[in-house]
Amino acid sequence: CGIVAYVGQQEALPIILKGLRRLEYRGYDSAGVALLDKDGLSIYKKKGKVSELEKYLDSNGAIESKIGIGHTRWATHGEPNDVNAHPHYSSSEKFAMIHNGIIENYEVLKKDLLQKGYQFQSDTDTEVFVKFIEDIYLNNQCTLDEALRLALHKVVGAYAIVLINKEEPDTLIAARKGSPLVIGVGEDEYFLASDATPIIEYTNKVVYLDDYEIAVIRDGKLQLKTIENIETNPYINQLEMEL
Ligand code: GLU
Repeated sequence: CGIVAYVGQQEALPIILKGLRRLEYRGYDSAGVALLDKDGLSIYKKKGKVSELEKYLDSNGAIESKIGIGHTRWATHGEPNDVNAHPHYSSSEKFAMIHNGIIENYEVLKKDLLQKGYQFQSDTDTEVFVKFIEDIYLNNQCTLDEALRLALHKVVGAYAIVLINKEEPDTLIAARKGSPLVIGVGEDEYFLASDATPIIEYTNKVVYLDDYEIAVIRDGKLQLKTIENIETNPYINQLEMEL
């Protein structure tokens, strides 16, 4: 239901949590974040309000990270609980994904992945989606953004997604179709969110991702391409909004 992600020089977690609270008006049943440090990728997620997630983070101690993805979930596939909350790991736990929307052909994809030996922890369409990307990634030995691009040709439904990858600690990969996704362009930092409300306090420069467009934020640079692999120039809108 709500997406907030950050990569830059600042501590990611407070920015993500504040952003998720700003998106609370959209309604949700659970919340979670994935953060990355030199020891790896960690996911923290909880059923309930963002304040429940914050309590959980306070008592468990989150890792420090300059990159992260956060999500508030409005359950469509699988009941609201801790396991079904996002982010969801790939099987290898090398990467994790948050997703707004619905994957309509997830049952067919899941059946195929089960036959290949994939296991599933949650009942969500999202876990099928991330493991489907992983399968393409492993079979093609390509970059994660290329695996995502190939996966999007097979996935039916609506999505705004963000991926974080343990092997590329300066990279966020996003895509959308049907569900909105906004990229905030700061000084050496980027924000991703379902709408501009979590972003405007940091920057008024935003790029609206189009349907069937993939955004790769890597090494401080933003690159956009279509799922047909055609590079597009990011159009930067200057927002004039009262804070
Ligand atoms: N379909 C996904 C799920 O049920 C995402 C729902 C959402 O947009 O929050 O987990």
